[in-house]
Amino acid sequence: MSWSLNIGKIFGIRFRIHVTFLLLVLFIFASVANQHGFQRGLLAALFICAVFACVLIHEIGHSLIARRFGKEAKSITLLPIGGVATIEEMPEKPTQEIAMSLVGPLINLAIAAILYVIVGRWTGISVPTVQPDSSRSFLAGLIGINIVLAIFNLIPAFPMDGGRVLRGLLAMTMDYVTATSIAVAVGQILAMLFIFYGVFYNWWIAIIGLFLYIGAGGEKQQVILKSVLHEVAASEAMTTTFRTLRPDEPISRALEHFYHGCQDDFPVVGEAGIEGILTRDRILAAIHDRGVNVPVSEIMDRDFSSVTPRAPLDEIYRKSLAGGKTAVAVIDDNTVKGMLCLDGISRFLAVRAALSHPGSRV
Ligand SMILES: [Zn+2]
Repeated sequence: MSWSLNIGKIFGIRFRIHVTFLLLVLFIFASVANQHGFQRGLLAALFICAVFACVLIHEIGHSLIARRFGKEAKSITLLPIGGVATIEEMPEKPTQEIAMSLVGPLINLAIAAILYVIVGRWTGISVPTVQPDSSRSFLAGLIGINIVLAIFNLIPAFPMDGGRVLRGLLAMTMDYVTATSIAVAVGQILAMLFIFYGVFYNWWIAIIGLFLYIGAGGEKQQVILKSVLHEVAASEAMTTTFRTLRPDEPISRALEHFYHGCQDDFPVVGEAGIEGILTRDRILAAIHDRGVNVPVSEIMDRDFSSVTPRAPLDEIYRKSLAGGKTAVAVIDDNTVKGMLCLDGISRFLAVRAALSHPGSRV
């Protein structure tokens, strides 16, 4: 995410803070200090940092459990609206998804319980406040916020943790796509109730409802796309009319094909089979730096991706195309049978959608 400052690593997970979060802290400090003096301003700024430290621990919880299930936790970013843990992909097993999602809210409840013990022994809890004027109200406020965070995250609507718990529970008795559709429907009904209530009583609740409604729809599309891609084999979506290059040919050869065809990426095939892929970016960079007579073998991508014709598209997408590769070679019996690229996959999906809903526009 741009506008995020790299702070460092926690448990090997990159930790970033969005610039707007720092602005929020500054804004809170300035507005409270302006009304109640420097000390109260400082306490309010510290308080908001403490709240986000709790959010950070919540996200670390998700990330560490994901890692236990073999999913890579890439980064955690703190935004003014909360934390975002970027995890390679959600665990497939329902029990794993439930465990991973529940750990966040449980951590907030645990923090609240620990603080309660500290404050309880002290002088008892007063009404939680977001603008503390003493260390006691500071801790009491943190207890309140952690309870609210736990409850808020357990709302059974995507993208909240509760939405994932509900989907996991449903997926124990039905397929993943149906479970997601039901969980999304429950989430959207709740979101609409939030919006309806919020419009009359509290605009913040309406905004949260809107945020939930949009998040739920996005999750459904992702899951459906993933399940569609999972059903399709590389051989069904690959381009079968393509030109190949020999390693000793100059790139001017590639340029000819480039001008007169729609092909962007060329498999480079030698005596023993495919040796690399020459991508459009590499062709253009080489012409700029070294002219058109450089042999293809010197600029092709030797670290290319290849799959068998039976490989499912979701795996190809996840492992290669999402990671920056522009093309994947489909190889059978040491022969290039076809080429796959993002454009080709989206063309394939568009045609498939048109065929399954005749009459509707793609
Ligand atoms: Zn969470």
